[in-house]
Amino acid sequence: MNLYSWQSALWQRLMAQPERMPHALLLEGPRGIGKLDFALALAAARLCEAPQGDGQACGKCPACHWIGQGSHPDMRLLEPLTADADEAEEGTPRKKYDITIAQVRALGDFVNLSSHRAGGRAVVIHPAEALNPAAANALLKTLEEPNPNSIFLLVTHQANFLLPTIKSRCHRISMPQPSAAQASAWLAQNGVEQAALCLALAGGSPLQARDYADAQYLQARQQFLNTLHKPKQLNWLQVAEQGAKADMAARFDWLQKWLADLISARLAGTVRYNLDFVSSLQELALTVNLMRVQQFADELAQIKRRLKHPLNPQLLLESVLLSYLAAVS
Ligand SMILES: [Zn+2]
Repeated sequence: MNLYSWQSALWQRLMAQPERMPHALLLEGPRGIGKLDFALALAAARLCEAPQGDGQACGKCPACHWIGQGSHPDMRLLEPLTADADEAEEGTPRKKYDITIAQVRALGDFVNLSSHRAGGRAVVIHPAEALNPAAANALLKTLEEPNPNSIFLLVTHQANFLLPTIKSRCHRISMPQPSAAQASAWLAQNGVEQAALCLALAGGSPLQARDYADAQYLQARQQFLNTLHKPKQLNWLQVAEQGAKADMAARFDWLQKWLADLISARLAGTVRYNLDFVSSLQELALTVNLMRVQQFADELAQIKRRLKHPLNPQLLLESVLLSYLAAVS
């Protein structure tokens, strides 16, 4: 489990006084900057039987071996349960939903029994905003009665969605973000092509940028943006049909970033995300009614918040594309 270069200062600060480590940490920050890896490294450090000089897990002892296998008896990783099996069988990607109260209740016994090995126990919750209200309340009880040997590591992309009472029980850490140079260096080390474009699409988050650097994904995106670029030729029925079968959330994301760029191209002449469509965006920006585009961008943000379980994805995408047409024509 390697730390990222932009996390080393924070790591050193926390490890300077390991005995004063709070029993619950809330690691906050945008997606794709390595928060979960940092939490896992902290958990591993807590359980490792021969930590290194800087406090990091050794990677070689029996405890580290079990962690590597995901089977250490004193560690739990709580993540949203995947959707039911028949949905996955239809070939659609598995969607992730809530972290449930049953998952949190199972922790109760886990943190209160004495640990299997000599060390402590570690619980990682990712992402914490996936805790549904009942689960969050159950967790609160556990956090209120801390077991000195347990550490809770909550990872969140959206701390504003967490119960204030959960936040107040945790030591909050705003996770460090890489500089552009650190992010580019890391992407180069990981062999990512089109690093500049992917990093821009990811809003500067290197891990997200690495996920975007997938030939199929980038090609689908380019196809979709090509249709947005020429609204008069947009065959919205066809695009909606294809999009609904593929990754709906990605389409919403592309459309949202496209609109943000369109607005920015109109107002400032610059583009933040779609570096490969600068001239198309600038060209289109000259012809649109700024207020209508802004209004549509706001509506889209509202719709996106309710996107979790659309009844009819195709119909939704159709109506969104129609609204787009109306907004830019
Ligand atoms: Zn170890």
